[in-house]
Amino acid sequence: MSTMRGYIFEDINKPAWRDDIPIPVPERDEIVIKPVIVAPCTSDVHILETGALPTLKGKPMGHEAAGLVHAIGPDVKLFKPGDKVAIPATAVDWCVPAVQNGYDKYIQLSPYSSPDPRLGGCFAEYMLVQQGDLNCAVIPDGVTWEQAVACTDMATTAFEGVEWLDLRFGQTVVVYGIGAVGQMALAAAALKGAARIIGIGSRPITFEVGAKMGGTDFIDYRNGDVVAQVLELNGGPVDAVITCGGGDISAMTDALRMVPNGGRVANVAFYAADSQWSVPTGADSWWWGLADKTVRGLTTRGGRGFLERLLLLAKYGRFHPEYIVTHTYHGMDHIPEALDKMGGHDRTAIKPVVFFD
Ligand code: ZN
Repeated sequence: MSTMRGYIFEDINKPAWRDDIPIPVPERDEIVIKPVIVAPCTSDVHILETGALPTLKGKPMGHEAAGLVHAIGPDVKLFKPGDKVAIPATAVDWCVPAVQNGYDKYIQLSPYSSPDPRLGGCFAEYMLVQQGDLNCAVIPDGVTWEQAVACTDMATTAFEGVEWLDLRFGQTVVVYGIGAVGQMALAAAALKGAARIIGIGSRPITFEVGAKMGGTDFIDYRNGDVVAQVLELNGGPVDAVITCGGGDISAMTDALRMVPNGGRVANVAFYAADSQWSVPTGADSWWWGLADKTVRGLTTRGGRGFLERLLLLAKYGRFHPEYIVTHTYHGMDHIPEALDKMGGHDRTAIKPVVFFD
């Protein structure tokens, strides 16, 4: 059996390189991908630190990749070896009835949810994608590898949240937390017609890149109460908020205080079990229970269709996902270094990427 090299999740705070991982052989509708570029994610860091996903144990980590189709199973119809594809951060199991009732986002077929030992992450020389025709996205001509990988999770997550906000032209939006996902939310809000887009963060690099992504104003949460800062800057509440971070600074309560009655708050930030996540505590933030405010927590949209539409936005210059890439490495041996950057140990990092060659 041929083997490959991969960076696996062995145990809590114990990643490891292994050279004896079997190279998956595609069956039925499966596609084997040879990653060209991967990106670490803060969720990889969370998993490593907390061991939150036992099904990943012993498998390669990583869920943001773009690469080449290496081999296809006999039932694959729409791809052939050599095709350039981006892999959505979550694959969907399109063959369960719940999908037809609109639950596709939650029926995941990923290394994180499936016990199938052949199904690993992208920090490996090869990775398997099941139901490949619907879980691989074509990278259109003119879209770079960096653009493609940046869209696989950061854009699919942020755009999903912003789309739900249902903005009207000329509205004002707050993006709370402007790391990699928040940067994409700034761009999405601009594309959806927001006039004023206020980013909340603290690192100079995020303000600098955020201005290019579509942000018009930036607030540093270290300069005092963020709700007061937003209300003063805007002269009153904003139309909508998307929270993309800030679990330790009561982002949700703050967000509810920034929108008027009838306003919407979308959350796409991941809250670990031990995070100091704060649900609305003050009755005033809910207008004593009568506020008509809507909160929705959204996860990334998996599968092919949504990612392909976002890649078209990049192709036609409607947004620039590559702006979030702050560090580029060559060689898969740099994955641990890139992961460390993502873990918040470098204030100049938004999104590191690793080319395998
Ligand atoms: Zn991710």
